[in-house]
Amino acid sequence: MIKEMTYSGSGIERAAHLRRDSALLARLAGETNALLVPMWKGRNLVVTGAEPRAVLLPAATLREAMAAAAETVFLGLQEGAPVFASDLTPLSDGEGGPALGPGTAFVNLREFGPVLPRREAALLAHAKGLLHWHRQALFCGVCGSPTISAQGGHQRGCSRAGCETVIFPRCDPAVIMLVIDENSHRALLGRAPRFPGGMYSTLAGYVETGETLEEAVAREVAEEAGIKCDRVIYVASQPWPFPSSLMMGFFARALSFEITRDPHELEDVRWFSRDEVQAFESQGLFLPRRDSIAHQLISLWLEEG
Ligand SMILES: [Zn+2]
Repeated sequence: MIKEMTYSGSGIERAAHLRRDSALLARLAGETNALLVPMWKGRNLVVTGAEPRAVLLPAATLREAMAAAAETVFLGLQEGAPVFASDLTPLSDGEGGPALGPGTAFVNLREFGPVLPRREAALLAHAKGLLHWHRQALFCGVCGSPTISAQGGHQRGCSRAGCETVIFPRCDPAVIMLVIDENSHRALLGRAPRFPGGMYSTLAGYVETGETLEEAVAREVAEEAGIKCDRVIYVASQPWPFPSSLMMGFFARALSFEITRDPHELEDVRWFSRDEVQAFESQGLFLPRRDSIAHQLISLWLEEG
């Protein structure tokens, strides 16, 4: 079983019932225990150094900055304290963003996620994903008029009378699957051209309109590697706000074994035994990073051997 998935488990209580009342949210933001997760140009604020930590600032001291923010959202309650996140991009054009404390820097969460405490990485991922969506949803997809944030940042609505289309934070469902040859105890791993040299991972792809997750798994495996599979078993999911995916992880049983690689998708794809995967390092090969669900799926399979 997967116990700890990076970017999950922030412990925040989303408190959806508080989102409706914007006057209440404004009041909560002014309370002494209110916290702000600052973001700038898609980056999160951390204390850098040997043991990086997420930076949450007292919201009450940042009222001006929040007023000038591109967007502020209400994330929920953390041990009773209201937590907000603001996109402070308009505050600074400089290299590193607004200065918000010694030893802090706005960083790419993709780099820092694996080394932050898990709860903090999850909170920063939540802020990053939601604020990213706001930047992508400034105009109505139906009539092109500007949209306005509502529900504490968990909706946007078209500003044009008569249209008033409501849109919700978007996340793109992606399937990620470890295909297993149960007879020969091998798993299918491949490498996309964009991967760092030597890295092999599970296959993955986006779910298309009109298909189930199981169908998406089977289709992607057939398209990328020419392998037929069935018995698609759900294992776990992971928010992946880079920029807006929800990864859903599966095991699948291979029904055919001869690989036909799609050269547009994969540079290489092979069957590997557990011993071969465990000897990756000596071959100059490696698995995806520990914070990814791909790593977790492969680790689970290795443990079962
Ligand atoms: Zn509209």
